Amino acid sequence: MKLSELHTGEKGIIVKVLGRGAFRKRIIEMGFIKGKEVEVILSAPLKDPIIYKVIDYEVSLRRKEAELVEVITETEANKIREEEDLDQLTLLNDDWHDIAVRQSKTIQVALVGNPNSGKTSLFNIASGSRERVGNYSGVTVDAKEGNFKYAGYTFKLIDLPGTYSLTAYTPEELYVRKQIQEGTPDVILNVVASSNLERNLYLTTQLIDMDAPMVVALNMYDELEQSGATLNYPHLARMIGCPMVPTVSKTGRGIEKVFDEIISVYEGTNPVTRHIHINYGDVLEKRINSISALLKENELNENIPPRYISIKLLENDKEIEKYVHYLPNADAIRKTKNEALQSIHSLLNEDCETALTDARYGFIDGALRETYHEGVTDTLKTTRMIDSLVTHKFWGYPIFFLFMFVMFQGTFLLGEYPMQWLETFVGFIAGVVNDNMQEGPLKDLISNGIIGGVGNVLVFLPNIVILYLFISFMEDSGYMARAAFIMDKFMHKMGLHGKSFIPLVMGFGCNVPAIMATRTIESRNSRLITMLINPLMSCSARLPVYVLLIGAFFSQHKGLVLFGLYITGVVLAIIMARIFKKFLIREDDVPFVMELPPYRMPTSKAIFRHMWDKASQYTRKMGGIILVASIIIWFLGYFPQNTTQNETYTQEIARIQSEYNEKPDQQEERDRQIADLTHIQRQEHQKNSYIGQIGQFIEPVLRPLGFDWKIAVSLLSGMAAKEIVVSTLGVLYTGEDGDDISLKNHLLTEKNADGSPAFTPLIVISLLLFVLIYFPCVATIAAIKNESGSWKWAAFVVCYTTALAWVVSFIVYQTGLLCGSI
Ligand code: GDP
Repeated sequence: MKLSELHTGEKGIIVKVLGRGAFRKRIIEMGFIKGKEVEVILSAPLKDPIIYKVIDYEVSLRRKEAELVEVITETEANKIREEEDLDQLTLLNDDWHDIAVRQSKTIQVALVGNPNSGKTSLFNIASGSRERVGNYSGVTVDAKEGNFKYAGYTFKLIDLPGTYSLTAYTPEELYVRKQIQEGTPDVILNVVASSNLERNLYLTTQLIDMDAPMVVALNMYDELEQSGATLNYPHLARMIGCPMVPTVSKTGRGIEKVFDEIISVYEGTNPVTRHIHINYGDVLEKRINSISALLKENELNENIPPRYISIKLLENDKEIEKYVHYLPNADAIRKTKNEALQSIHSLLNEDCETALTDARYGFIDGALRETYHEGVTDTLKTTRMIDSLVTHKFWGYPIFFLFMFVMFQGTFLLGEYPMQWLETFVGFIAGVVNDNMQEGPLKDLISNGIIGGVGNVLVFLPNIVILYLFISFMEDSGYMARAAFIMDKFMHKMGLHGKSFIPLVMGFGCNVPAIMATRTIESRNSRLITMLINPLMSCSARLPVYVLLIGAFFSQHKGLVLFGLYITGVVLAIIMARIFKKFLIREDDVPFVMELPPYRMPTSKAIFRHMWDKASQYTRKMGGIILVASIIIWFLGYFPQNTTQNETYTQEIARIQSEYNEKPDQQEERDRQIADLTHIQRQEHQKNSYIGQIGQFIEPVLRPLGFDWKIAVSLLSGMAAKEIVVSTLGVLYTGEDGDDISLKNHLLTEKNADGSPAFTPLIVISLLLFVLIYFPCVATIAAIKNESGSWKWAAFVVCYTTALAWVVSFIVYQTGLLCGSI
C-alpha cells in the first residue's frame, strides 16, 4: 500500500520509492530507502504534512509525497505468505522483512515502441508467452502481461500497443501515455527497430521528455549489421542518458543483457542513466521554461514533469489542456501559452508543433551523425524488387487475387486428405458405439448428439489450420501490408481507409481479433464502418458449413464456389460501407499512412505456433460451446418421446417381420418396408420434438428462402458459433441406423414429406448466402460492443446482417425458382 494510507502508530517496510528526478532524490536522502521500517508518528485524516519515524529520525512528508512511497505492512506480508504457502505447498517461514525485500524485487516493465519494431517477439521470448507477431503495424492492439523471474527479480512485463509518437491522436497513443503516467511502470523498455533508427528514435525523444526511467533495446540489430552499417551505441546511450542494448528478439540475442540493464536502472545504479533535456532551441526553450515556472507554482502529479506538460501545451495537446484546466493558476498558464504560441509563430515562421517536431528530428540527426555510419550493402534491394512487382499498378491486383484464389483452393485440396482420415476416424468411433452400446437414450446421445454434432465439426479442423497457414504467411512476410497498400485506392472508393483492409482480411480468419485490430485506424468513423462490415468477411467458423454443402452439392467446382462466396461477402461489404458512409456516418478521410516493412521470411516456428494456437482454439471450442450446443440440440430433438406412437411403430415393424418370416425369398422387400417405416417414424418424431416445434414456428419466415424447419433450427443454433450449423445438421440428419455417418450422403438423399428433395443446389446456394451474411456469432457481437463502446452498434449489426441475409437469399431463391434453371 501507499505510505500515505498508513494510520498513526502503524508500521510498514518500504518496498519502492516511485516518482523521479529531484523529488525521488530528496525522499531517498531523507532516509526513505527500500527495506527500511517506517512508523507513522502523527497522521490526521486531513492533516498535511504527516510525521514519520524512519531510521530513528522523525521527518515530515507531505501527503502527496507519501503517496509515492510504497510500503508493505505486517498484515499484508502475512497474507502474501499465506498465499505463497498455498501455492507452493511448503512453509517458507519468511518474515515480514524477507517478504518486503522480495516485493521490492518485483519490477514492472512496460514495452513501448513503434509498430513492427519487434515488441511482441521480445515480449514472447522474454516471458515465454505465445502472443501473435505479424509483419505489419498494429498487431498489438491491447496491453498484454507476462511474468517471469530472472536474476532473483520478478518481472511484470506489459506489452503496450505500438505507437509512432505520444501525441493524443489515436486511441493507442492515448492508451500508452495513460499507462506510462498512471500505471507507473518502474522501467520503460523502449524497443527500437535498428533498421530504421531515425524514425524509431522520435518516440524515444518523447519518452525522454516524459523523464521516464528507460532502457532502449536496439532490436533487429541483425538487420543493421547485415546492411554493413555500424552504430557506436555505447556513445549514443551516454548522449541520450539511457542504456542501450543491441537485441535480436527473433533469436533471443541480447535479451538477458536488457534485463540486467533494467535491474540496474531500477536499483538506481546504472552509470549511463541521467535525465537529459532535448534542446528545442532558444526560442522554444524560453517559452517552455516560462510555462514550466507557472506550472511549478501548483502541486502537480509527480509522474508528469512540468517540462513535459509545457511542451505538450505548446503542441496544443487536448488531454494535457484538460489536466491544466483544473490548476489554480490555469488562466495565467493559458495566457502565457497563447502568447508563446504567437511569438513562436512570428519568430520562427512556422507553427509550434512543427518547430518541436523539427527540433526532435534535429536532435536525432545530430546524435546519429556522430555515432551511426550507413552501410554499403543495400539490404532493401530484394524488398524493392519484390515490391516493384506486387505493388505494380497493373500487376499488383492479379497477383493479389491469384494469391487469394490459391489460398481458397489450397484450403480445399490440401485439406481433403486429412479430412478423409478424420472422417474415417469419426466413423470408426461411431461404429464402436453402435456395436457395443445398449439401445436407449444414452446411446442416442453419444452417437447422434455428441458424435453426430462434435464429430462432424472435427473433420474440418485441417481446413481451418490450412487457411490460417496462408493468413499467417501473408502477415509475417509483410505481404499483407502491400495488399493494404495496393487496395488503398479501392478502399477510398468504399469510403474507407487503406488501413481498414487488414482488419477486413483478418476477418477471414476470425472476426473477433479483426474487430479489435480496427484500433489502428485513426479516424473514428472509418473505424466504426470497418467494424460494422467486418462480419461480412467470411470467418473460418463458416468454412465447415461451406465445405460440407459445397462438397456435397458442387463437387465439380468446389474452389470456385467457395471463392465466389468470399467475393460475395466482400462485394456486400463494399455496398454496405458505401451505404453507411452516405447515410449513417459522414466524415472526411484521413490520409493513408501505412508503412511498408521490409519483407521478412517468416520463421516456420512462428507460423506453426500460430497454426497450433488456432487448432487448439478450435478444438477447445469443440469441447466447449459446440459440445454443449450439440447436447442441447440433441435433447430438444430427442424429447418429448411419444411412447404410444413408438409402440405402434414397434408393433408394425414386428408385424412386417413376422409376415415376411415365411417368405425367405422376399427379404429385400421386408428390409425396404422396415427402412421406410423407420424413416417416417424418425421424421414424425423430429417434427413433434421440441426442436421441431421451434423450427416449425419460425419456418414460415424462412420458407420463402427455400428452408425447411430443420435448416431453420440449424441457423438458430448457429447464432452461438457458426460451426454449430454443421453440428446441428449432423444431429438432425444422421440416421438412427448408424451404418453411415457421412452427413453429406444424408443431405443428398434427404426427402421432404412430399417426396421432394430437402436440398437442391438452389436451396443450398440460398443457405450458403444466408450463413455468410446473417448474425455473426455472439463473440463478434460482444467485440463490436466493446470496441464501439455501445450496445447500440452491436444491436445494429445483429439487425442489419440478419435483414440483409434474408433479402439476399430471398432474391436469389425466388429468382432461381422463376428461371427454373437450377
Ligand atoms: P510488434 O508490432 O512491435 O509487436 O512487432 P512483432 O514482434 O510483431 O515483429 C514484427 C516482425 O519483425 C515479425 O515479422 C518478426 O518476426 C520480426 N522481428 C522481430 N524481431 C526481429 C529481429 O530482432 N530481427 C529480425 N530480423 N526480425 C525481427
